Amino acid sequence: ESKHSYIGRFAPSPSGPLHFGSLVTAVASYLQAKQNSGRWLVRIDDIDPPREAKGAKQEILDCLELHGLAWDECIYQSSRSDRYDSVLQQLLDANLAYFCSCTRSAIKARGGFYDGHCRDKHNLDAQCAIRFKNDVQTDSLHDQLLGDIAISEQAASEDFIIKRKDGLYAYHLASVIDDIDFGITEIVRGADLLAPSVCQQSLMQALGHPYPKFIHVPVAATKPGFKLSKQNHAKGISNTSLSQNLFDVLRYLNQPIADEMTKAAPNEILRWATTHWDVNHIPKRQEIIVNSVE
Ligand code: GLU
Ligand code: ZN
Repeated sequence: ESKHSYIGRFAPSPSGPLHFGSLVTAVASYLQAKQNSGRWLVRIDDIDPPREAKGAKQEILDCLELHGLAWDECIYQSSRSDRYDSVLQQLLDANLAYFCSCTRSAIKARGGFYDGHCRDKHNLDAQCAIRFKNDVQTDSLHDQLLGDIAISEQAASEDFIIKRKDGLYAYHLASVIDDIDFGITEIVRGADLLAPSVCQQSLMQALGHPYPKFIHVPVAATKPGFKLSKQNHAKGISNTSLSQNLFDVLRYLNQPIADEMTKAAPNEILRWATTHWDVNHIPKRQEIIVNSVE
């Protein structure tokens, strides 16, 4: 079996249906993978049951499928607990993680960023949160689109939580382990995750794994032409205008759209867009874009 040299992924959280911003990330990661003759995985980040919306997983997968975004493999984080537990134990054994009993208000009172308060306590146990002992001295990452991006040293060096006090696995832990285990070579995600990417890079380094490439795409709060309001902020993608949705996404990513495509089906649009995809045309923006009606 030949090993793919490019493996990308799209990792939605099932807290609701896909909205315009998530479709942007889905399409960008898909086109980048396909243009590189790679595999494209969909990872359902379902490790936070209280925040999960009923039916959202299936709704997300249906929405991707209807838009022609066919995945090579679908992974559910909820099925990966054993692996997360074993890495947690490995980190604890290597003194790269420790238990923390601090409350949110105590941390806030000490300045907001976690100051390593529990690093040398040895009498804490499983009732507590687990933090990553972040001794990695990296406060920046290299983005294929944006270049070198630095975040605040405080944010980059924080001993972040990898297992929550309530027993749930933290996003950073699960995401890093999965990106390693599934051989992700490049992460294409929203620019709202720039700081988390720097933290994840540190955790990967501590686990002795080379980190993947990164591309952070601009985050849209709404579909262009729509005013931000409570309703359309989290408004789900309409499955009655599939081709139009793809055109909106491609336009947002500053990609060409051929006139002859206007009546094409989603999979034809994606095939055309794969050939014409130019990652360097994506607008280089880190802030969340709130589109307004002109
Ligand atoms: N599921 C998370 C989100 O949708 C993480 C995505 C990622 O790791 O790229 O924000
Ligand atoms: Zn603590």
